[in-house]
Amino acid sequence: MKSWPFWAFPLTIQSLAVPLSEKPAALAPDVEVTRLTQKPKGDFREYQHSVLENGLRVVNIWDPNTTQAAVSLAVTVGSFSDPKGFDGLAHLLEHSMFLGSKGFPQRSGFDAWLAQHGGSSNAYTAEEQTVYYASVNSKALEECLERYADIFEAPLFNASWIWDEVQAVNSEHNKNRKSQEWRIQSLIGQMAVAESPAQRFHTGNLETLRRTDQESLAKEIRQFFNTHYCPPRMRLVTFGSASLESQLEQAMASFGKMSREGQGCEALAPTWAAGPPPFPSSTLRQMLRMQGLTPKPELHLVFPMTNLQPWVRSNPTAYLEHILLYAGGGSLLLAWRDQLGVASSLAVSQEDSSAGSKIIVSMALLPEGVERLPELFEAFFAFVGRARARTREQKLAVLGSLQESAQLGYDWAALQEASRAASQMANDMTKLAASDLLVAENLILDPDVDKIDRLLERLRPEGMLAILVDAANSSFWRRSPEDARS
Ligand SMILES: [Zn+2]
Repeated sequence: MKSWPFWAFPLTIQSLAVPLSEKPAALAPDVEVTRLTQKPKGDFREYQHSVLENGLRVVNIWDPNTTQAAVSLAVTVGSFSDPKGFDGLAHLLEHSMFLGSKGFPQRSGFDAWLAQHGGSSNAYTAEEQTVYYASVNSKALEECLERYADIFEAPLFNASWIWDEVQAVNSEHNKNRKSQEWRIQSLIGQMAVAESPAQRFHTGNLETLRRTDQESLAKEIRQFFNTHYCPPRMRLVTFGSASLESQLEQAMASFGKMSREGQGCEALAPTWAAGPPPFPSSTLRQMLRMQGLTPKPELHLVFPMTNLQPWVRSNPTAYLEHILLYAGGGSLLLAWRDQLGVASSLAVSQEDSSAGSKIIVSMALLPEGVERLPELFEAFFAFVGRARARTREQKLAVLGSLQESAQLGYDWAALQEASRAASQMANDMTKLAASDLLVAENLILDPDVDKIDRLLERLRPEGMLAILVDAANSSFWRRSPEDARS
């Protein structure tokens, strides 16, 4: 049982819901509890958001039919905060969290315990978030939470075990290097200005993490933990078949007493909003060529811009994606594929951080496409120009139908399995207000033509970094898109 089709549930779903009195009697008076009632029509799960007295934000998810429970914890810190001279430290800390804790000192004991209880655990370090998640059989959720809380309350940070763990980080880096996607991301990062955290090496390896001795590295890890891993910067999610009240009580019993008073904890997450833009104009209007790992050529058009995360409720990128991916008459894809014979597919992605966002238009090139880039660029910017020139009414009409189709897709999307649902929620909680959870990432809540215009305005050759990935052994060259015409 992973994702249930909505028709698998009888119309009595509503009556299954456990009504929540304003606040369970056992809870401390200062716990703010809110039901998240805005959710997809096909989603029979129940969601509840709470803020504990120590500042920890909690979401409990009730799924009456699940046999699998899950827990996830996100912290509002990531690789952007790596201390100078310690590239990859946030990532190494993520690995070091599972090397034993005060109450459960066995190295990797948590994973061994999970394996005995039908579960597993994983984590990832992003630029400004670190997200941990674990699944376990439903009956073991309470004990899982106790162990999880002990890990985040009192990790051992044994210096020689951390030193060993650098090997695992190093192996991960070596594996990453064989991933085309990682290489493209890394190349984009290298183009950022040196003062920007986007330019740093985020994974870490033996060279960046074993620059000192074991004790100094462990000290650095502990200091990073003490500074950033404090309850107001943590988001906890539990998922299971136990009632919301019971899940919240378990979360409080395990995490509610956690405190970092007097340990130098910074309650506010760092932000790079005021820092230098990672990609000023001097870094743009360029084309890079990268040797691909497959024979299939690709082209990625990267448009850096100010952080679009605050626009999440308007989601102007959905409009851009819609017009670019539309495959009917007069579409860009038809022109590229059928008339010009240069590209076969198209994708749009958006990446946000407080330092800035990137809109990336990626395409699979047909073999002739590599030789005909100037025509491809011309068709792309002419298409964007036409999109820009549409009237406000025309844009509103497209936006209206887009809003409806987003709602439909949202209402009847397949539900995520336990640990994915928990980790996605924990990640969302680092970026969104409680009232926007479950909705803002998926819907167009505040349609806004002005924001669409501002986005389209940024899609110009002078604001672009183009990356051609093909099999040619030319490794790396730079030319401006205009030079490609010669
Ligand atoms: Zn890792």
